[in-house]
Amino acid sequence: VRLDLESQRDEDTTTTDGRAITLSSNIEFIDEIAFVQNSGAKGVGLYRTEFLLLDGEEMPGELEQSEAYTRLAKALAPHPVIIRTLDAGGDKLPVEPLTEPEPNPFLGWRGIRVSLDRPGMFKEQLRAILRASAHGKLAVMFPLVSGLGEVRRAKNYLKECMDELAHQGVPFDEMLETGVMIEVPSAAIIADLIAPEVDFFSIGTNDLIQYTVAVDRVNHHVAELYRPTHPAVVRLIKQTVNAAVNAGIWTGVCGEMAGDIRLTPLMLGLGVEELSVGPHQVPRVRRAIRALSHSECVAMADEALKTPLSPEIMNATVGLARKYY
Ligand code: PEP
Ligand code: MG
Repeated sequence: VRLDLESQRDEDTTTTDGRAITLSSNIEFIDEIAFVQNSGAKGVGLYRTEFLLLDGEEMPGELEQSEAYTRLAKALAPHPVIIRTLDAGGDKLPVEPLTEPEPNPFLGWRGIRVSLDRPGMFKEQLRAILRASAHGKLAVMFPLVSGLGEVRRAKNYLKECMDELAHQGVPFDEMLETGVMIEVPSAAIIADLIAPEVDFFSIGTNDLIQYTVAVDRVNHHVAELYRPTHPAVVRLIKQTVNAAVNAGIWTGVCGEMAGDIRLTPLMLGLGVEELSVGPHQVPRVRRAIRALSHSECVAMADEALKTPLSPEIMNATVGLARKYY
């Protein structure tokens, strides 16, 4: 099976009835470039830049970051690389020692909130991304957005950085695509308000599930309640896709749901256009996409949207998966 999967590396990720899905890869370290290339993924759908923090106490400076992003951009061009701005905090490393521990880190100082509170650091990262954007196809994406104000503030900083670099004569991609992660229920619910102001959505299902069903994603006592096919999660994904379609932008999924081939029929059926998965998951997800009929997935998802219990929705998507792979 392994050899067979590898031999499909260069095959299109298109369903049997001709719907093209972008299959890209998630990475945490620049050194994973080779895995991404070998997997045949079409670029990077999520680069978790908070892992730059592991090497040192602070985020590397603008030029050092820009070198790392440039390596990625060059290695994967012409495919896009979506760089997520720092998502420190929560269960991840803090960006700086906290003066006092947070009672609820997942509801606290993490993601875009940290960046907006530390504009100096945020702008260094944005300028680093912009500098690297001259060397390939980059996009930027903001994590843990909960409202439109955050998107506008983040975009204002990006605009300021563009003006600064232009003033210095530093080349960058003026059309740099800007997206937001949809991983907080409030963002999914107002996706129609956010969509006109961005170029794409990437659904972070790991956090979206946790916040929707109020189940800590790393607490095994409540793991049983952490359900990717909870009807509320399925509805939020559908609502997000609908808002994106109405605004003419695309929706991807970069959480763990994207790499679970039991759920590929559901993801495709809900209208997701991009799946970003770990490099090792790429071959299986490719095979799943190529085996499925999009129209059959849509019919199943439409039924799933009327189905009241998560195990039933799971059964429906697993049923289609079993039929074809
Ligand atoms: C997610 O929340 O689904 C996601 C992709 O981001 P992270 O896992 O890094 O929080
Ligand atoms: Mg997340």
